[in-house]
Amino acid sequence: MAQLVGESVPPARSGTGTVPVARPVIGEAEIAAAVRVLRSGSVVQGPEVAAFEREFAELVDGRHCVAVNSGTSALQLALTALGIGPGDEVVVPSFSFAATANAVRLVGAEPVFADIDPDSFCLDPAAVLAAIGPRTAALLPVHLYGHPAAMAELTRLAARGGLAVVEDACQAHGATLDGRPVGSFGAAGCFSFYPTKNMHALEGGMVTVADPALARKLRLLRNQGMEQPYRNEIVGANLRMTDVSAAVGRVQLGRLPGATEGRRANAAVLDRELAGTGLRTPPVAPGARHVYHQYTVRVPGQREEFRRELAAAGVGTEVYYPVPIHRLPPFPGRWELPETERAAAEVVALPVHPTLSEAELALVVEAVRRAV
Ligand SMILES: *Cc1c(COP(=O)(O)O)cnc(C)c1O
Repeated sequence: MAQLVGESVPPARSGTGTVPVARPVIGEAEIAAAVRVLRSGSVVQGPEVAAFEREFAELVDGRHCVAVNSGTSALQLALTALGIGPGDEVVVPSFSFAATANAVRLVGAEPVFADIDPDSFCLDPAAVLAAIGPRTAALLPVHLYGHPAAMAELTRLAARGGLAVVEDACQAHGATLDGRPVGSFGAAGCFSFYPTKNMHALEGGMVTVADPALARKLRLLRNQGMEQPYRNEIVGANLRMTDVSAAVGRVQLGRLPGATEGRRANAAVLDRELAGTGLRTPPVAPGARHVYHQYTVRVPGQREEFRRELAAAGVGTEVYYPVPIHRLPPFPGRWELPETERAAAEVVALPVHPTLSEAELALVVEAVRRAV
C-alpha cells in the first residue's frame, strides 16, 4: 500500500531515515480541494469530474476524456467499449503490472504475451508481429516506467491486421513520442491516478479516445448504461469517479509539468553521475520523452546484495516486476520470453521522484557508486 504524506509540499524526509522509491504528495491544495467538494454536497461524477476531464484533454491532444475509478477500470472499459470479449486474443507484454492482463481476462478475452525490447522495456514490435494470429483483436502496449512504447511500428502492425490498439499509459502521464503524447495514438488510451503514479487522484483512471461515439459508449458503460436518469440504454457497470478524487486530480494535473521536469532533472543527474560505473542506466529511444515513473537500472547476478547495500545506506529500492505476468498462477501457459525473464531477474528501481532533495539525490548517487 502506498504511504501517503500529509505534510505540506514538498514533504519532509520520511521518518524511517530511508529515501523512499515513491513519495505521493497530498499537500494543502489537495486537502483544500477535497474539503471544498465535501462542503459542496455534490460528490460523485459532478462538476469536478467534468472539469477534470476537460483539463486532462490538454495532455492528450484534445481527445475526449472519460474519468473512471481506477486505471484497471479504464483498461476494462476501453476493451469492452471496443467490443473485445470472449473468443478474442489481445497481445500484451508479460513484463508489466498484472492489471494489464487482468483487464483482458476481466472482459473474457485471452492475453497473448509478447516479449519486450531490452532497452525500452516495452513491447518489441517483431515479437508482437509473431504473436498475432487469427483470433487477435487488439494490441495492448504498455508505456512502462514512463517510456513510450514503439507506437509508430505498433500502430502500423495493427492497421495492417485490422486490430484495435489500447494504450496502457498508467505510468506515463505526459510522455511523448516524436512530440505526440501517449494516450493519443491508439483507439483508446488508459491512465491511472493511483497515489504512487506520476500524478494521482487518491484512486482513479481516465480513458482517452478520438471517436465521439466511442466516448459516449464509455460514458454509458461506466454508469449503468444511462445518460438520462432511469433511461438505461445498455447494460453498464458503476465505474464512476468521485468529485473528491477529481478535485484532487485537478490539483495534481496542475503540478504535473513541474513534477515531470523534476523527475527528468533527477534522471539526468543519475544518468550523468552513474555513467562509467558499469551499471546499465535506462536508455531512451530516439524521439521519446521519458517521464521516469521509475528510473530502472539492471544489476545482473547480484541484485539482492546490491539492494541490501543500498538499504543499509538509507536508500530504498524496488523491483518492478520480479515475477512476469506469464509466471503468475492465473496465467498458465508455455511462453518463450527471454528478454522478459532477463529483465525480471535484473531490474532495480532507484528513487527518482520529484520530491527528492538535493541531499537525498546525492545520497542515492553515493550509495549506488559504492555498491557497484
Ligand atoms: C497502476 C497500473 C495499472 C492499474 O492502475 P490502477 O489505478 O492501480 O487500477 C495498470 N497498468 C499499469 C502498467 C500500471 O502501472
